[in-house]
Amino acid sequence: MSDINSTNPRTLGRGICIITGASKGFGQALAYQVSRSLEPRSVLLLVARSGPLLQEMKEELQSATEEQQLVVHCVAVDLRTKEGVDETVRVARQEAVDEIEHVLLINNAASLGDIAKFETFTNPDEVNSYLSLNVSSPLALTAGILQLCPCRPGLRWSVVNLSSMFALQALPSWVLYCTAKAARNMMFSVLAKEQQHVKVLSYSLGPMDPDMQKEILRLTNVNHNPMPCHESAAKLMKLLLDNNFSSGAHLDFFDV
Ligand code: NAP
Repeated sequence: MSDINSTNPRTLGRGICIITGASKGFGQALAYQVSRSLEPRSVLLLVARSGPLLQEMKEELQSATEEQQLVVHCVAVDLRTKEGVDETVRVARQEAVDEIEHVLLINNAASLGDIAKFETFTNPDEVNSYLSLNVSSPLALTAGILQLCPCRPGLRWSVVNLSSMFALQALPSWVLYCTAKAARNMMFSVLAKEQQHVKVLSYSLGPMDPDMQKEILRLTNVNHNPMPCHESAAKLMKLLLDNNFSSGAHLDFFDV
């Protein structure tokens, strides 16, 4: 088995790449960029609720990367549920994961939640429902894929957590979002300490232009001068291809 770090550092190797929240926004932009850096017969899992959008992407991706013969799976699931997480792991299990060189898990799916004052959140069910997607699902999915692809010689393992400046900075009325992003940051820091073979990156992507920013503008009337997703996706791709970051690092779009 080739060592992708030494033979060809400008590819991600023959990998299995799982991208949650791939149907639109940053996840979609990243899926297109990742697909170009995977070696032939790699596997790509596109995970989100909107099956038709994923199917459309699959067709576009496969025609744009015909010579690579990528195996692309659309996994149309709700990651707030156990069934959604289990189904994602089940689809990954169908592939010959013992033959691949790189496991790349991109925990991107997230939601903004209600932007409201602290005293609004009297209902634990509402809070739990928010945390199920934004905290529980990346933990459970990462655990499931770790079990599926244990450490072995020649296997590169990378996990990306899509983060935000609000993982580190408290913002009034953003208690759900800030709490979830801070929890994810700590969750993946623990993973980096615990599993030495897994390279973990929390990447804060800066204000992007898709639905989440439209929602922020609608809810707060504050425009954060969003950028096109592909610019931030390109920076993340460079970080992954260079592979020089320290495991557990929290890196910001504006600092790299
Ligand atoms: P987005 O446009 O709202 O897209 C979110 C993605 O998550 C979609 O593909 C959505 O697909 C999927 N998703 C939502 N709920 C889901 C569920 N229950 N089960 C499965 N998939 C679900 O978000 P974005 O703006 O691209 O943000 C991507 C990441 O970057 C997030 O982690 C976000 O917190 C972070 N971030 C964003 C910004 C920004 O300015 N946009 C800034 C900093 C950090 P379906 O609706 O099809 O399920």
